[in-house]
Amino acid sequence: MAKLTVKDLELNGKRVFVRVDYNVPMEEVDGEMVINDDTRIRATLPTLDLLVEKGAKIILTAHLGRPKGQREASMSLRPVAAKLADLICRPVAFVDDCIGEKVANTVGTMQPGDIVLLENLRYYAEEEANDAAFAEKLAAVADAYVNDAFGAAHRAHASTAGVAEIVKSRGGQSAAGLLMERELIFLGDELDNPARPFVVILGGAKVSDKIKVIDRLLEKADTILIGGAMAYTFKLAQGYTVGSSLVERDKVDVARQALDKAKAKGVKFLLPTDNTVTESAKVDGKWTFKNERNNADVNIPDGVEGVDIGPETAAAYSAECAAAKTVLWNGPMGIFEDPRFAVGTFAVAEAVAGATKKGAKSIIGGGDSVKAINKAGLGEQVTFMSTGGGASLEFLEGKELPGVAALSDK
Ligand code: AMP
Repeated sequence: MAKLTVKDLELNGKRVFVRVDYNVPMEEVDGEMVINDDTRIRATLPTLDLLVEKGAKIILTAHLGRPKGQREASMSLRPVAAKLADLICRPVAFVDDCIGEKVANTVGTMQPGDIVLLENLRYYAEEEANDAAFAEKLAAVADAYVNDAFGAAHRAHASTAGVAEIVKSRGGQSAAGLLMERELIFLGDELDNPARPFVVILGGAKVSDKIKVIDRLLEKADTILIGGAMAYTFKLAQGYTVGSSLVERDKVDVARQALDKAKAKGVKFLLPTDNTVTESAKVDGKWTFKNERNNADVNIPDGVEGVDIGPETAAAYSAECAAAKTVLWNGPMGIFEDPRFAVGTFAVAEAVAGATKKGAKSIIGGGDSVKAINKAGLGEQVTFMSTGGGASLEFLEGKELPGVAALSDK
């Protein structure tokens, strides 16, 4: 890792500004906001435990939802402070602002190992604007900076980039938290020099979302397996018919270029040879699917839509996974939210878990693929699941993320 991590820092008695991802799903129950899923809070515990051990005064900052610069009561982080206190078995103070006198007063009374959570950063529009004066106000209580919010690292906001730069400019250190470190190792270092064969599985809705990732991975992968609606744009580029499947006609050229590059580089690039198809119609604004069946042909006839990879494709993709030493997976193989069309995605999830059992490293690139692998009950059986959606995609594209770039070099 080229960046400092929290393990490298001496923090005894120091005020540490820690950016975390506590953008947790909540719902109102009897007039109170209740946290539905505390995975993101739990995920920060190793970093927080280490900070406590190092004697840091821990100042946690985060965003919740999109309050767009307004004090939106339903988007307060207060319930998160209570939940964190339960999980970490220590008191967690809460300040109903993220800058100003109240923050300074509370931090002024902190002892080493104390934890305080500040109110939603996005109650100020200056946060997302990376406003320099706002970043200075946030940094007023920071001797050191730790970023454990990989999911927000692709945005140059005051708390993800501004504060880190200010701390460095004062001669302080800005470092990755343990969660962030794992993201950078698995999506970065591990994929720079992967054990081979390196098999990449890409799916999801659009070629346009992932073409940059495909382009970069064509430089590194031995095999690329394509599923999801994305596959149909590639099939158009190959001259096959796709019926009424979801396609991006304006991306057929881009798909063709990727196919040509795969050929030139000797990368095995597989597309579905069979598909689950349905007759789909919009009823009262909602898509309905009927008469689902396997279409055991590379061409999809008019009047039906491809909604999942078929059994022959699932078997071929599983066989490629079984031979892999490194697997990277991003994007479902079909409309997996509907159990009828989750079969291909679950078969791939099983294959990825199976490869991991045989010693391969498996890396799940965030978003819907993490949802899918959890839905298949296999979340514990892969090497790493990214917590980032947009951030993992941008990182896999090879972009420098502002929240990572702002950290101190080793
Ligand atoms: P992405 O966010 O790009 O990974 O796309 C995920 C979405 O792609 C999921 O909501 C899937 O339902 C959708 N998807 C996958 N395969 C298909 C398909 N064959 N047709 C339409 N949508 C699909």
